[in-house]
Amino acid sequence: MELGCRAIWRRCASHWRRGTGTSMTASPPPAKVTRVTCQAVPSHPATVRALHCPSSSTVCSPAVGSAWLGGSRKLSVTGQSRLCWSCHNVVSRSELFCPSCRSLQPPDHSQDYFQILHCDRSYEINIQELQRKYRNLQRSLHPDYFSQKSQLERDISDQQSSLVNKAYDTLLSPLSRGIYLLGIHGITLPEGTEGDMDVPFLTEILEVNEQLIDANSDVEIEEIGNVIQEKCQELIENVREAFQKDDLEGAKTFLTKMKYYTNILEQVKKKILP
Ligand SMILES: [Zn+2]
Repeated sequence: MELGCRAIWRRCASHWRRGTGTSMTASPPPAKVTRVTCQAVPSHPATVRALHCPSSSTVCSPAVGSAWLGGSRKLSVTGQSRLCWSCHNVVSRSELFCPSCRSLQPPDHSQDYFQILHCDRSYEINIQELQRKYRNLQRSLHPDYFSQKSQLERDISDQQSSLVNKAYDTLLSPLSRGIYLLGIHGITLPEGTEGDMDVPFLTEILEVNEQLIDANSDVEIEEIGNVIQEKCQELIENVREAFQKDDLEGAKTFLTKMKYYTNILEQVKKKILP
């Protein structure tokens, strides 16, 4: 027991002994029940019961008086866990469902997309593994599974499902995955600041755009698309190596180039499939 807890426990114990004249464990006094906002769903009317010492207004940890304070698990919550919105039991942040009552837990915005999809936080990602994990998550969140549940849990399943989709789409694309990973490190890509790029690269982009405008057949357009696709593949490898060497500025430069090429590829698709 922490020294502070010991002092609080002594103070609470002495108060209760005075108040009831009996032993604490045999006959606990009525503790004040305070209603606080549910941490899992702040907007949800569900509340969490916390037991307070009547004299000190200090929350007493279950570890201190668990023999009869067993209802409150509030102080057991750590950075890796949170409270179930339904049964108030402690749930690990990595778990979608409460192990006690099986209620689906709401999206945890402290988790990044890699954590949501149970992947290592790395640019190198096993796409088959990512797809498998995504499919498993979406299977657990399928609307059919929640058709007989409360409106609240159906809403939570919708929120979880769209978050999982967003995470998957972001990590699946080599460009958005790289941008997202840079963002985790506090680096953002410039928005249309052409001054950041070298002149030969910008000249090349202008020329390719002109070729695309002048292209008269699908074959010509496809050829341009194939060349750009190859350049993107090279850049994916460059970005991978840069992240491997913790060269974040290098990764940023390669990803910025990849963004330009990806824009051209989108134009190619539009021209072939109007
Ligand atoms: Zn629960």
